Amino acid sequence: MTEPRPDAADLAGIDEARAAARRARAPAAERCGALAVTADGGRHPGTTIRLAGAAGLSACAEQIALSAARAAGASPIARLYLWVPAAAGAHPCGRCLQLWRELAPQARCLLQRGDAPPTELDLAALLPEPFTSYPSAAPPASDPGAGDPPPRAAGGA
Ligand SMILES: [Zn+2]
Repeated sequence: MTEPRPDAADLAGIDEARAAARRARAPAAERCGALAVTADGGRHPGTTIRLAGAAGLSACAEQIALSAARAAGASPIARLYLWVPAAAGAHPCGRCLQLWRELAPQARCLLQRGDAPPTELDLAALLPEPFTSYPSAAPPASDPGAGDPPPRAAGGA
């Protein structure tokens, strides 16, 4: 299989994701950047935010970018760009794959690891069995990429 060559728009997206990584609040090895680009051209960057002593509560760059696009009421996310400082093998965590699946299932994702050539990620291959336990997991056809959140649990925050 041959990787599609990134075009100028893709390279610009990767550059913006890499620039967002420089604004991360995390150890250097964990400074990642993301950019969610919506169908109407909106650009929503994200960067790693690591909390002291609480890595489990930290936010990934792509989580922030996807959430920012959603919070802005943007049109569907068409493209997601990621930059990570790590060598081969790094890819979005399970939480971010599920978020990508629910908020932007149609979005294509391009990842650059360090200075390596960008790689197109395949959501179905990385997350073959996503959570679908609530009825609104599939986004309505009229609003692709904007699925409703699950109902709140009784007694939740
Ligand atoms: Zn993540």
